[in-house]
Amino acid sequence: MKERPTLSLIDTELLYETLREHLYLCALAIFKHQAKAPGAIQLYANKCGRENCEFCPHFRWKVWKDNFGKWSAYNIEEPLRYARRRDFSPQAREAIILAQQILKIRAELVEEITKLRARERGYMRRLQKAFEGHGHALRILTNDDDHTAN
Ligand SMILES: [Zn+2]
Repeated sequence: MKERPTLSLIDTELLYETLREHLYLCALAIFKHQAKAPGAIQLYANKCGRENCEFCPHFRWKVWKDNFGKWSAYNIEEPLRYARRRDFSPQAREAIILAQQILKIRAELVEEITKLRARERGYMRRLQKAFEGHGHALRILTNDDDHTAN
């Protein structure tokens, strides 16, 4: 990314996309560094199904278990607690740590974007009010025949 003194909105979106891409890569690396066996940890990208959700997918940690011969995975909050055992892949553990750091950056960015969106609505209301009060001052620009009118 090019270095700039301030982040524009386009850069924010680029950053958001970059974080998401890296999370997908982490999820793939975590998957590839482990055998599909009980205790294997996975990072899942989950679509919440809510309409207009701007922050899909939501990433979830899961651990595989053998449920009487059927594979299933259940949600976990702290994947590293499940990655402590000696036979756990050190590369998978590294990828989990990387993913956790990226998830933390993403969560902070989402919080900032959410705050900005809320403020944008307030700014739009103020702009609308300003136009309602004084917008007629700009009519001269949209009405060429009537540029001498008050
Ligand atoms: Zn969502």
